[in-house]
Amino acid sequence: MPLDSATREALQARLRFCRDLGLTGLYRRPVDPALLAQLAAATAEPQISQEDSLIPPRKPIPAPPQIAAVIPAAERAAALQLIRDEIGDCTRCPLHKGRNKIVFGDGSPAARLMFVGEGPGADEDAQGLPFVGKAGQLLNNMITAMGLKREEVYIANVVKCRPPGNRVPEQEEGATCSPFLFRQIDVIRPQVLVALGATAATWLLGVRQPLAGLRGRVHSLRGTQLIVTYHPAYLLRDPRQKKEAWADLQIAMRELGLEPPAKN
Ligand code: URA
Repeated sequence: MPLDSATREALQARLRFCRDLGLTGLYRRPVDPALLAQLAAATAEPQISQEDSLIPPRKPIPAPPQIAAVIPAAERAAALQLIRDEIGDCTRCPLHKGRNKIVFGDGSPAARLMFVGEGPGADEDAQGLPFVGKAGQLLNNMITAMGLKREEVYIANVVKCRPPGNRVPEQEEGATCSPFLFRQIDVIRPQVLVALGATAATWLLGVRQPLAGLRGRVHSLRGTQLIVTYHPAYLLRDPRQKKEAWADLQIAMRELGLEPPAKN
């Protein structure tokens, strides 16, 4: 039976919440063959719970593109512009149908620190800039707490167009768009990358793992150090986790040789 839109939204919100918690290992329950035979005898219709039916089958994360050669700092802005030009008025995946603006990225092409989020929300879609809504305000505060200015870092997302209703990007969308993100990373070549939330961690590291197992340590990715932390939108919903996120950011600061700014 098809779900009504309110039920569907509620179930999707629950899935998002689980994903924010790092519970990315949601899967279709394997069906016991004996039980299946019993069910087949009882009814012609397969018995799949409504929630299970919303969970897409797990497909492998495609391999990222080869690492590109280092680009001198003075040429990075032009190199980023080339990538932006290549994206053009993109129609490569279904997300283009609902977007207003492509959100390419924002910040310094010579940044030592780069943040990667999931995908634009409504504010970002309207302005064409990443993290300019409520989650962006919190990200700005996190950057300030690290002793940096937003203009000094670079910010991008796994997908450059807003997923409808802010849902998690689908496999096809992430697979189509993430190669552009990898190319941005290769141009900027930050010393430290921070993955904000499970979607960013999944697409950057190429593994679906609970966030809990990825946080608190330094990963190596394309010649940079990668730190995984909570998405600011999740921290807005559960501010108690801010302490944990700050601990992650302090790992990033240590790698960058940054001292926290003195409190006045
Ligand atoms: N959430 C994201 O993941 N990215 C943005 O740009 C804004 C909100």
